[in-house]
Formats: sequence, C-alpha cells, structure tokens
Amino acid sequence: MTPACTRYQTDGMRWLDGELDAQEAGHYQAHVRECDECRRELAALGRVVRMTDELKLRAPDDEFWKGYWESVYRRSERRVGFVLLVAGILAVLGYAFVRAVRSPELLTYEGISVTLILVGLIVIFISVARERYHEHKNDPYKEVER
Ligand SMILES: [Zn+2]
Repeated sequence: MTPACTRYQTDGMRWLDGELDAQEAGHYQAHVRECDECRRELAALGRVVRMTDELKLRAPDDEFWKGYWESVYRRSERRVGFVLLVAGILAVLGYAFVRAVRSPELLTYEGISVTLILVGLIVIFISVARERYHEHKNDPYKEVER
C-alpha cells in the first residue's frame, strides 16, 4: 500500500460510478494494473456496486405492488359503494311501498305519478352508474393516467 493507493481507493468508487473524466480514469486503470492491493479493492467495490444496483432494480417492484394493492383497494371500495347505493335505494323504495299500502290516501293519481317519475329517475341513475362503472373497469389506460 503506497500513499498513492489511498487516493486511488476513493477513485475506485468514483470510477465505478462513472464520475472520473477520461484522464483520471486512465491514471486509475494504469495504477490498478500495477497494484494488486488496489485491484482487490476494486473487485470488492465492484461486488458492492452490483449489490446496490440489484437493490435499485428491486425498487420498481415495490412501486408495482404498492400500485397493485391501491388499485385492488380502489376497486373494492367502488364495489362496496355501489352495493350500498343500491341497498339504500331499495330500502327507500321498500319504505315508500309499505307506506303507500298502509295509507291508501297516498295511492292517488298524483301520488302514483310522482312515484313513477321517481322510480324512473332512480332506474336511469342506476343504469348510468353501472355503465360508467363497467366502462371504467374495462378501460386499459385508467391506471396509466394517474
Ligand atoms: Zn494501489
């Protein structure tokens, strides 16, 4: 180990990172060819660099799984929301129906007309909501936009 080696040790790391200019890299490579100790050092550094590169390559995987679980969560969230919406509408309709049967004064011409309009609107709303839901589910680019 010569005094020059100390300097070349830090150069080894910088060379592997591609931070040395052509002249510095030339000096470094020339020294490594001559010096066993620095060659061993470089080999050890190379292993470390490969390991950190592999760790870097694994990072997108984590992102992928994070996105995967988020989209699974979003999908089930939407499904639960839709089920609750339909359940709520059915409950309201059931309640209105029971009320109408128990109090015949609601079964007037106006009452029935208003009920028919409301039911029609609800059916259209459910139909549109379902269509949107399925369009969204079948859109292959929906995750890319986010
Ligand atoms: Zn050396």
